Amino acid sequence: MPLLPIVHAPAYDAGFAPGHRFPMGKYTRLMELIGETGLGSAADFHAPAPASAEWLALAHHRTYVDQVLGCSVPALIEREIGFQVDERVSLRARLATAGTVMAARLALSEGLACNTAGGSHHARRAQGAGFCTFNDVAVAAHLLLADGHAGRVLVIDLDVHQGDGTAEICAGTAAIRTVSMHGEKNYPVRKQVSSIDVALPDGVRDDAYLETLDWLLPRTIEGFSPDLVFYNAGVDPHESDRLGRLSLSDEGLRRRDRRVFSFFRERGIPVASVLGGGYSHDIDALARRHLITFETASQFI
Ligand SMILES: [Zn+2]
Repeated sequence: MPLLPIVHAPAYDAGFAPGHRFPMGKYTRLMELIGETGLGSAADFHAPAPASAEWLALAHHRTYVDQVLGCSVPALIEREIGFQVDERVSLRARLATAGTVMAARLALSEGLACNTAGGSHHARRAQGAGFCTFNDVAVAAHLLLADGHAGRVLVIDLDVHQGDGTAEICAGTAAIRTVSMHGEKNYPVRKQVSSIDVALPDGVRDDAYLETLDWLLPRTIEGFSPDLVFYNAGVDPHESDRLGRLSLSDEGLRRRDRRVFSFFRERGIPVASVLGGGYSHDIDALARRHLITFETASQFI
């Protein structure tokens, strides 16, 4: 069986103190688990180089790009992001973005690829927000279009929070369709308009969630034939998530991922998945939730 292409850089983990509101340790623990389960070892991973300012400026204002690269983000914006943008955070944001670009290119050649970071969907054109510095998917989508590697791109975002930054950046680009299914009452308070938005009430469980997803998936490609799909596989719809407000089980997440991968792969559409959100002080349990996406993806390569 061919190995699932996995994109990873050790510096995805910027080494926040344990107990920080952003559970940075999940990136390192996830890689240990990927190694233990035989999905791949360090020698197999595809390592990105930091994204250039030119790439980042495809989706962000140059002023903001320069602020992040120069570690001079105004304190007010850092507060909205939720952490200080120092050297490690700046490097991490550039690596995660380049990792999503790499996953997209691998998906175009191999059919499927996963970045072990990314899905920073709250970052808007002018600034970061909600633990997101650069919007990796928006950068990668614009780069593929600019390079002519894709003519149409679909973003399907099943993180429990709305992909507001992605919607804002990609609005007006007809070649990109943005789809977000999220908790209605969850962050951000002020939602943006995606091409398709599905807002779910609090407490939705597996069967109702999957029924809605089954309704949604065919609509994502109605009148739109994408050359590539970006899938934000955030695990924060899980019942134990600290910020989620929905009630999916582990099995529910697995069935969700299986539906997404099978729907697009059966139609021959390449899928690049990005990690997305997931919040718990129990880093091992959290990393195991993210591992589900990689285990499921490996069945479709
Ligand atoms: Zn989220």
